[in-house]
Amino acid sequence: MKKKSTTSVKQATEKKTPVKTPVKTAVKTAVKLDKLPESGKPAKPAKPPAFTIRKSVIHGRGAFATRDIRKGKKLVEYTGELITWEEAERRYPVDPIPYHTFLFEIGDGSHCLDAARRGTPAKWFNHCCKPNCEAEEDEDERVFLRTKRAIKEGEELTYDYNLTCEEKMKKSERLRRYPCWCGVKKCRGTMLAKK
Ligand SMILES: [Zn+2]
Repeated sequence: MKKKSTTSVKQATEKKTPVKTPVKTAVKTAVKLDKLPESGKPAKPAKPPAFTIRKSVIHGRGAFATRDIRKGKKLVEYTGELITWEEAERRYPVDPIPYHTFLFEIGDGSHCLDAARRGTPAKWFNHCCKPNCEAEEDEDERVFLRTKRAIKEGEELTYDYNLTCEEKMKKSERLRRYPCWCGVKKCRGTMLAKK
């Protein structure tokens, strides 16, 4: 389960039989985090969200912790319209440079979530080579972003996109098309997964 560039799909789908299923939406019902208050009793004040979206020095907008967050905390579900890679390629025929889409590969890799439609703020989490969050997919192919370690208030929340691209590219091309600006000491310079 990882983010994937549409360019790679061009390569991958040529070998496979086209998926005939039309675009279907699979936005599942939101998780009910709190039970509804019993009538007559005052509702508990809702806990403010653990993060907020604002401009990031890494890239565009990013997610920032509004308070200290413990390790292992489930922060948000990554939702989006469930589409095939063929449809993703139709929507985004060319990867923008630098790469920026809201596609997230799920399941066996034949489908992805397009968070540009029906996405949650999870789509604003930036990539980092040494991230403080991770994405995990459950048995129902729902994706959640969870903290990997304890987070301090104000920290930007990131995870490793681990982009896959089957297209053969020179290193310079990888860096040009999928640059990483996370700025950590061991930044690999690209959002593409390690080979
Ligand atoms: Zn990096």
